[in-house]
Amino acid sequence: MSDLDKKLYKNTFKTSQTSHLHPDDEQCLQCLEKVCTIICPAKVYNYNESEKKLTVSYEKCLECGACRIACKYIKWNYPEGGKGVVYKNS
Ligand code: SF4
Ligand code: SF4
Repeated sequence: MSDLDKKLYKNTFKTSQTSHLHPDDEQCLQCLEKVCTIICPAKVYNYNESEKKLTVSYEKCLECGACRIACKYIKWNYPEGGKGVVYKNS
């Protein structure tokens, strides 16, 4: 287990019923680099080539904001109602 994985393992999540991450499906179809699948430390985004579909495992999101900077086609909000990641520092 890498140091990053050890740190991520300490986090817990209050899962929302709805996603706070909304990529633009039309843009994703045309997107060549799919940088969201590379940049996310939690591997939230996965692209299925055979189905031509981007899946978003929003419940694993660390709310770091990297994807919103990397791609302007993701509508990004914090999870509603205090849901989402709960960081543990020790
Ligand atoms: S979310 Fe952005 S980077 Fe990811 S596949 Fe869609 S357009 Fe590309
Ligand atoms: S905010 Fe960070 S952890 Fe959440 S999906 Fe974007 S890159 Fe991944």
